Amino acid sequence: MTTLADEIDIALAHVEKPSSSRLAVKVSRDAERQIRGGHPWVFDRAISSISDGGTSGDLAVVFDHDRAFCAIGLYDPDSPIRLKILHQGKPAKVDSSFWATRANEAHERRATLFADRRTNGFRLVNGENDGFPGLVADLYATTLVVKIYSNAWFPHLASVLRAILETLGDAGCTRVVLRLSRAVLPDAPDSLHDGSVLAGEHLEGVVEFLENGLRFNADVLVGQKTGYFLDQRDNRKLAAEYAKGADVLDVFSYSGGFSITAAAAGAKSVHSIDSSPHAIKEVFDNRRLNIENPKVEACHFDSTVGDAFEILEGFAREGRQFDLVIIDPPSFASKKRSIDNAVIAYKRLAGLGARVTKPGGMMFQASCSSRVTTDVFRDAVRQGASAAGYEFSFDRYSDHGIDHPITFPEGAYLKAAAGRPRRRPRRR
Ligand code: SAH
Repeated sequence: MTTLADEIDIALAHVEKPSSSRLAVKVSRDAERQIRGGHPWVFDRAISSISDGGTSGDLAVVFDHDRAFCAIGLYDPDSPIRLKILHQGKPAKVDSSFWATRANEAHERRATLFADRRTNGFRLVNGENDGFPGLVADLYATTLVVKIYSNAWFPHLASVLRAILETLGDAGCTRVVLRLSRAVLPDAPDSLHDGSVLAGEHLEGVVEFLENGLRFNADVLVGQKTGYFLDQRDNRKLAAEYAKGADVLDVFSYSGGFSITAAAAGAKSVHSIDSSPHAIKEVFDNRRLNIENPKVEACHFDSTVGDAFEILEGFAREGRQFDLVIIDPPSFASKKRSIDNAVIAYKRLAGLGARVTKPGGMMFQASCSSRVTTDVFRDAVRQGASAAGYEFSFDRYSDHGIDHPITFPEGAYLKAAAGRPRRRPRRR
């Protein structure tokens, strides 16, 4: 019988195997300190010397200033993050047992999720935070979706997938899908494309999974990220605590994770806004999946496709207000210089959000920009609400769930705050 791992070996047979030679690297003292402190990134400018002839995915050994072993990483000539550190401390061999240990540790960190019968969609490997810098693996029921953000992973992919599959066991996985980030696509080996089913059952559409006891579809072949935003699972539950009997506005809804969770918590109505018509169609698909839930059936669903800023402006002008307003925008700061623009956008959204929140209502705002720190984000929300005439003190804060462990500052991208905006009395 061919196993999934065998199928993967066949699918990846033409992909370059890892080179047996190691690059020798020296880095600045500061970078050495960072590596010793567990930071997984070494930028090109921090490298003081490197042996010639390396190719993407080669293993690079970092030697310290006393010429002793410091760390081992993946060499990535296509990225300013030139080395992605896999291991630091004592010398180690990066082989199948190394990947197996890493995959097992990641699995153990998620023991409570594996035991949770109400959730079978979650992140199995969270990139650098689980020791796989630039690689994530999400599980949707028994479909494993691996997304790589660096070409350096290609030579190691077969071993890594084998290690992850091993942790899932025969019954735990029936299909493996590969997703490629935009940076990787142009240099991907032939025949591997974004959305390749590497092994297991053929797939054309979506995959169904459970989150907090609710049914959702993940568009694993072409959807954003790996098909669904698993990182907001706990926040959906948090926001839904305020949803009973409420008119809810879900801004930047994507496929309706917050909308459906709020409906199932007893919301009177849910209005989802997204610029993508496909995303809004998925909200209604997900509603249908849960229609046997009487609360979902009783909840009135509405939607608007378009630019959230313009739609919110319109609602605010018309005086349309909601008991619970959820604002979960895309990352506005993918580049360093766009931090200021992101902050401006968060302020604007907070002001608009406060204006469309009923007196006494609740507003939940999230940020997934790792470059915008928690303090900066909270200040932006407060200031944005204030400029619109509202005091906004937060009742609740939250960040990542246990399947998104964070081990270095840049890994902490998700932050959310919820509270009740209060209109300031107008001065005469
Ligand atoms: N809240 C969602 C995830 C949001 S991701 C969830 O829980 O799953 C961000 C979403 O914002 C995407 O679906 C994207 O299509 C949408 N989007 C991006 N720019 C937008 C804009 N200007 N107006 C409205 N939607 C936008």
